[in-house]
Amino acid sequence: MNIILATTNNHKRKEFSRILKDHTLFLPSDFALPFDFEETAETFTENSLGKARALAQIVPKGYAVLADDSGLCVDALKGQPGVRTARYGMEVFGHLLEEHERNEYLLKNMKDFTQIEDRSASFVCALSLIVKSHRVFTICESVEGHITFEQYGKGGFGYDPVFFVTEAGKTMAELTGPEKDLYSHRGRATRHLITLLGEL
Ligand code: IMP
Repeated sequence: MNIILATTNNHKRKEFSRILKDHTLFLPSDFALPFDFEETAETFTENSLGKARALAQIVPKGYAVLADDSGLCVDALKGQPGVRTARYGMEVFGHLLEEHERNEYLLKNMKDFTQIEDRSASFVCALSLIVKSHRVFTICESVEGHITFEQYGKGGFGYDPVFFVTEAGKTMAELTGPEKDLYSHRGRATRHLITLLGEL
């Protein structure tokens, strides 16, 4: 299937390209489509569906749209940063933080939680696929882990250096790309998507 990703994030494109090998993926910029969506909903699924719907209105006929809204939910922070994961720290610093700064800010906010069992978190991925206006599918998956005490690893992107995947025994940034796909929120959600695409 020809699928346009409702994102400007090249890291996400790279991960989807690795997993969705049998499909052809594009970014809005490949078609010079202006895509900018403000995430204002309270759930990952609603934000993901909102992104997909916004892009579906402007894509050429015959192209499906796939949106991904992801985020980190930390139990000790009452589920924060959650749907505000991309903008974490913005209220305090008055501007969007660089990935490394955002991770340091998270580690600082977790400093009173000194036991691993108090640092549990999940990474969530909500996918929305729009094939046609009334063929709309959503999937929400997650992976369990904890927030580390320092940043570890050079792979991946975003919060990968501070998210320790329980099942893998490493941070997401210490995993190779294919290993990350095996365990990650996005990998899990995308495997359900592959099953769905096979049935369409
Ligand atoms: P959004 O889905 O584009 O709103 O991104 C949410 C935030 O989560 C961004 O700041 C990303 O850097 C971060 N993020 C999304 N997916 C991942 C991932 O797989 N690893 C680490 N950080 C991620």
